[in-house]
This record gives sequence, C-alpha cells and structure tokens, in this order.
Amino acid sequence: MSLYDKTAHELHELLTTKKISATELTADVLSRVDEVEDKIGAYLTITRDKAIADSKAVDEKIARGEKISPLEGIPCAVKDNICTKGIRTTCASKILENFVPPYDATAYGKLTAQKPVLIGKANLDEFAMGGSTENSGFHVTRNPHNLEHVPGGSSGGSAAAVAAGEAVFALGSDTGGSIRQPASFCGVVGLKPTYGRVSRYGLVAYASSLDQIGPITRDVTDCAFVLNAIAGHDDMDSTSTAAQVPDFTKSLIADVKGLTIGLPKEYFVAGIDSDVETSVRNAAKKFEQLGANIVEISLPHTDYAISTYYLIAPAEAATNLERYDGVSYGARVDGVDVVDMMTNTRTEKFGAEVKRRIMIGNYALSAGYYDAYYLKALKVRTLIQRDFTDAFKTVDLILAPTAPTAAFKLGEMVSDPLKMYLQDVCTVPLNLAGLPGISIPCGVTNDGLPIGFQLIGKALDEATILRAAFTYEQIN
Ligand code: GLN
Repeated sequence: MSLYDKTAHELHELLTTKKISATELTADVLSRVDEVEDKIGAYLTITRDKAIADSKAVDEKIARGEKISPLEGIPCAVKDNICTKGIRTTCASKILENFVPPYDATAYGKLTAQKPVLIGKANLDEFAMGGSTENSGFHVTRNPHNLEHVPGGSSGGSAAAVAAGEAVFALGSDTGGSIRQPASFCGVVGLKPTYGRVSRYGLVAYASSLDQIGPITRDVTDCAFVLNAIAGHDDMDSTSTAAQVPDFTKSLIADVKGLTIGLPKEYFVAGIDSDVETSVRNAAKKFEQLGANIVEISLPHTDYAISTYYLIAPAEAATNLERYDGVSYGARVDGVDVVDMMTNTRTEKFGAEVKRRIMIGNYALSAGYYDAYYLKALKVRTLIQRDFTDAFKTVDLILAPTAPTAAFKLGEMVSDPLKMYLQDVCTVPLNLAGLPGISIPCGVTNDGLPIGFQLIGKALDEATILRAAFTYEQIN
C-alpha cells in the first residue's frame, strides 16, 4: 500500500488503529522523495535523519498507549523562509545559504508541538519574490503534473512536494498569492489566513504588512487541522490578532444553503484563459445547485491592485532587506572598505529579481517620489479595502479564479517581469485588504494542468471559507 499520497486525516486513522506505523509512513515518503526529487526539485534541505528519528519517537508513544495529535507522525514540508531552529533556512538566497536560525518561527514551533515529521525545507522564489519558483537562487522546481511547467510560486516547493507525494502537507507563505497560486497550479488546497491570524514571528520578512503563513494540503479537512495547529495570538508579533481561534474542524460541514456568494465581474476579464473561466463559472454553478445564492458583484478598484501591490511590496522589501549587509546576517564578500564590502556582498549574493525590487522600492520611497508613489499606493490600498467592505455587506463569500491561467511553461515569463506580475491580479487584492482566501482545485485544462478557484472571506472568517470549500469538495 502506498502511503505517500494519502491525506493527513486518513493517515492519522491508520496510525491510531495501528494499521501502519509512523516509521513505515516516513520511510514510504522518503523513498518517494528518492524516486522523484531529482525531477521535481521541491526541497532545498532534506532532514532525513531527523525525520526517521522523529517517526520512531511517535511509534514509541503509540506503543506506550498514549494518544497522538492529529498531525503527529505526519510527514510535512516547510517553506524555507520560515525559521527552523538548528535547520538551515536560506530563503532560496545565496545571501542566507548557510544561515542556521537560533530559534523557531512561532508558527513552526506551534506545529512542532503536534509532532509532525519534517521531511525538509521547501524551495521558493528568492525571499518569496516571484510566482514561479524560477527565482530561487539554487534551482528551479518543476510542476509534478507536467515537468515542463512551473509549480507556481513563491511557495512552489511546498505545493509541488504535496502534489508529488514528497510531503503530506506543507507550510507556505503568502504576500501576494504565494500559497494560493502554487496550490492552484499543482492541484492542491492552499489557504492564506486573515492577516494577523498566524504569527509572522520568524517568517523572514518580505513585505511585513502583507506576509502571512498558511497551510498547503491535499484536502480541506487537512487544511483545517493545520490551521488549528498554527493559528493564534503571539506576543512576539504585535500584528497578530488577539481574536479567539475557533476549532476549524467544526467548519467541516457539507452545507452552503442560504450562503450568498459574490462573483466579482472584474476578476473575469481579458487575459483570463477560457478553460479557467469555464471551470470557475462551473464551480459557481455547483454552489448554486447546492443551495447557495450566487450574485454578480463589483470590486471597482481591482484594476489598480497590481500597481498598488508592486509599489507597497517592494517598498517594504527594500526596507526589510537592508539588514543583509555582510555584517549582521549571512554571507559576506570582502572589499577594500566597509562600503565596498557591503556593495560586493549585496551585488554578488542577491539575485536579479530581488535587486529589481530593492531598486523599485527605494525609488518609490525616496524624497520627491514618496508622495507620488508610496503614499498614493497606500491611499489606493484603502480604496481596495473599502471595495471588499462594501461587497461583504451583501455577500458572505466571494468566488473568483485563483490565477488567470493554469501553470505556464518554465522560462515562458522570466524575461518579462511585467507579464509575470500581471499573473497576480486575482490574488494580491486580498493581501492588500488583509482578507483570508483559499484555493481549491476545480478541474484541468485541455492539457491536463490543474485549475483552481478562490473563496474569499470576511476578516477572521476562515470558518465560512472552510465550510464552503469542504461542501464543494464533497461533490467533486
Ligand atoms: N507573486 C507575488 C510576488 O512576486 C507574490 C509573492 C508572494 O506572495 N510571496 O510578489
């Protein structure tokens, strides 16, 4: 029996009924890694010995008759911009190639309290800047459904690992779509929680007002279990919310009767692939058949979301990445004096996309341009937030494509950053507004590549998102 392609909740059942052991499960996933990792390239670090040792501990606990947590013994991957104490955390950047954090990110620490088995740290676009994982400073990751295609990004390694059976679930991070878009490209489930729902402490900062950690899983049930594990207030992150964390597994109810779901007309625009549009509209029809009320809505400032995001995110990135100066963290390239050393370090160790964003960000923040660019972007951000507030006066959820296309070919967009940025049209508005959103598989293109759709909820209302997503999943 192959185990690597099962969900966490199925495996939990097999573990607790002693049909399988945790060591057997970890061995199965590790042998799957041996079989496919050369082709996929999902990982930057594989924690094989730790995985084997941790799985043994779970078996000993089961043998003692102790109860195990829902994620205990379940093999997982963690995006390599999430700090793991004693385990290299590179952000897929040469500048952090040998960085070993002295502490755990809070979300990872909460996860480890449940004792899953870490298989490794997953590849990403350098510092999470990108949408294809081609910007990794180390190697590309390929889409398990078609090796000529990208897995999406920036959490491409996490999504590909889950889709390829190299992990049962993963943690990703989402600043402008980096959990949802790769989940959609790889045919898995990905949830970006409400801003503040999960602590950002120990998530290496890209754009701090947008970043959020979340689950990438094989189904909605697993998504609820992982969110349960990582959510909650953290004194170490002043932006984490004090709001109560419900038990998200209580939302796994197959019932959407009476829910009103809005279809924003601005998300079905020129540039959207016809296969994607058809599948997403079919998903809306299914919700209608299930008793939901579907209405067309308008989010009028959607058109400005990309420009707004690509000013705010680089501005924050330029500031956050100042710390990599050859002194405080990471790599150093010598120079004749300190300025020369810093210049050499940053020139040699940052990749092209990271440098591009530092330049855009510093430009937008510089005296003389601040008002015209950064400040204006903040004002438009407020308008985008208001669009959602207005829409949620009449709807419970918003349904939209996750991305305008399915996974594109490797190399197809890297030389055209603007084209790549435009891919983020359906995902960045949520980050700008701080709202939660999930991507769920809803079909495949004529070429057999997965398509996903997004359910967007009110702030802190992951519960309704999960309920609707679970309902949809039951009929599919
Ligand atoms: N593709 C977007 C970007 O390049 C989103 C990245 C992310 O969510 N980390 O900024």
